[in-house]
Amino acid sequence: MAVAKVSLLDALHEHFGFDSFKGNQEKIIKNILSGKDTFVIMPTGGGKSLCYQLPALMSPGVALIVSPLIALMKNQVDLIRSYSSKDNVAHFLNSTLTKAQIKKVRSDLTSGKTKMLYVAPETLTKQENIDFFKELEISFIAVDEAHCISEWGHDFRPEYRRLREMIEMINPELPIIALTATATPKVQSDIVKNLELRTPEIFISSFNRPNLYYEIRAKRKKDLVIKDIVKFIHQHKGKSGIIYTLNRKTTEELADMLVANGIKSVAYHAGLDSTTRAGRQDMFLHEDVEVIVATIAFGMGIDKPDVRFVIHYNIPKSLENYYQETGRSGRDGLEGICLCFYSYKDVQKLEHLMRDKPLSEREMGAQLINETVAYAESSVCRRKVILHYFGEKYEGENCGKCDNCLHPKEKIEVKNRAFIVLKA
Ligand code: ADP
Ligand code: MG
Ligand code: ZN
Repeated sequence: MAVAKVSLLDALHEHFGFDSFKGNQEKIIKNILSGKDTFVIMPTGGGKSLCYQLPALMSPGVALIVSPLIALMKNQVDLIRSYSSKDNVAHFLNSTLTKAQIKKVRSDLTSGKTKMLYVAPETLTKQENIDFFKELEISFIAVDEAHCISEWGHDFRPEYRRLREMIEMINPELPIIALTATATPKVQSDIVKNLELRTPEIFISSFNRPNLYYEIRAKRKKDLVIKDIVKFIHQHKGKSGIIYTLNRKTTEELADMLVANGIKSVAYHAGLDSTTRAGRQDMFLHEDVEVIVATIAFGMGIDKPDVRFVIHYNIPKSLENYYQETGRSGRDGLEGICLCFYSYKDVQKLEHLMRDKPLSEREMGAQLINETVAYAESSVCRRKVILHYFGEKYEGENCGKCDNCLHPKEKIEVKNRAFIVLKA
């Protein structure tokens, strides 16, 4: 790629107004500009977008950015436009656009005005789009949220598995940049294999979130748990928090209970229509409610920096989910309290949810659940276990910010043996 000779720092300042790079950003950007395949693993909030946005602005042609969620795409494009004086520097192309809008996007692309085009994987499956992209000068392809490729990830999307095939049709030589906030070693190798990255340079940032406090509580009877939660929230009056539950009904029930206890709260789940969902999400973002009680349908791409607590009413189905969901607290670097209630009954519920799946999937699911159970029952530093899960070693004996370090105890009290053993 031919790149104009300005320093990266100048370019950063010119395009984004920032004075310095964060973490690995500069090294990553240099690697991308050299035309090599690049794999970026950086926790949420680390600044992944800039890693492809700056090179896109500095390279000839347009960068295609694959993103899984249509709602996220619009946010990203709006954000880029807010930095730039030219609206057509970034566009998105997905099923929400009208014919006239598509025509405008295409003409901006053809005339070379657009430096970044966000696309859904579905956009790339359409032959007319492939034919159009073939004729364009493309700088590189960025695959955001690349963990969606892997069944071992927390948000598998089958269409993501066909990306290589699509890229092959557009231009097999194109450099690929894969980015994700979540990659256990298994997910990492899935991504490299599936996108057929060519001896990629891999940049891994630490997954440690030093400002988050982790605690697991044995889950007692329902009314006691609710009492516990209400008490906790009253102690954090006026702060924003998320409560995750396993099923839709519980989100409504819990939200009602909180409201009855004087806590402003709403439920959020995939069974609500999209207007209601968007409305409730806005209420949470704008602090018209303090607490949102949600299924895992809530959260991806939600960028509220000052969420002060995340409560898991049920144990999540994998440590990966746990890390992502708890990770939505304390994004501003200030306090984030992560409470998780754990009972054997909830483990059985998770197992029950998989009952109709093929054996191979149930095996995979059981393994993920068992890892979470081991975490919950462990008396080892929570941070150490989480980081180990991501292939990272936590140096130090006592993190000072988890229940096991602060209040060492024998074991979490649960009845029965909690691990799942599948019957073939
Ligand atoms: P990620 O995709 O890794 O979760 P984002 O790309 O959304 O993270 O960036 C998180 C925040 O960090 C954004 O508000 C972004 O503007 C900010 N940011 C990124 N790079 C820098 C930088 N070099 N200096 C200051 N802020 C930055
Ligand atoms: Mg991102
Ligand atoms: Zn600890």
